[in-house]
Amino acid sequence: MRNVGRIHFLPDALKAFADADQALPIACNQTISQPYVVAYMTNQLLLEKEFSVLEIGTGSGFQTAILSRLVRKVFSIEIIPQLATEAKSRLLNLGYSNIRFKTGDGYFGWDKYAPFNAIIVTACAELVPPSLLAQLRNGGRMIIPIGKTDGHQQLQLISKSISGSIQVQALLPVRFVPFRRL
Ligand code: SAH
Repeated sequence: MRNVGRIHFLPDALKAFADADQALPIACNQTISQPYVVAYMTNQLLLEKEFSVLEIGTGSGFQTAILSRLVRKVFSIEIIPQLATEAKSRLLNLGYSNIRFKTGDGYFGWDKYAPFNAIIVTACAELVPPSLLAQLRNGGRMIIPIGKTDGHQQLQLISKSISGSIQVQALLPVRFVPFRRL
């Protein structure tokens, strides 16, 4: 995380706070997640080098960059076109080359490149989107904040066994921006 440099992903006015362990505002009323939460979620995915990972909510691209350094291929979807465009050019300028970007509603996942070894969602949904569950490989893990957008939210770890059965584990209380729909 230190090597990625959160400072590169912040608006100029907030660069001084890059090392603060708190979420910060980015464009379009969205946030860059708290570093502790980025680390915690990444860690829970038990990533391996050859993995293909789906991320919903590119935002600033900070989490995307971290995933990019840990796995073979990252597929990242962002629903707000301005954020998607900015994150893509930022990450390309920084030299990240194993990320495929898409602008659109992550609710439907990215069928073309499924199944994924791991899925990370960084916006809070009321329920797990069924397409994401379907696009998780057997033996894979998904991490997603679930709850009411202005109320109680819980980070959930969803594990799919080798035989395809689902196990849900509640991890931490969290506060994420809402999972939006087009
Ligand atoms: N990981 C990002 C978090 C950004 S906040 C970072 O640390 O910078 C969550 C992001 O999810 C926002 O950019 C928001 O626009 C995006 N988002 C919300 N709903 C979405 C959806 N249905 N599909 C794709 N992206 C979505």
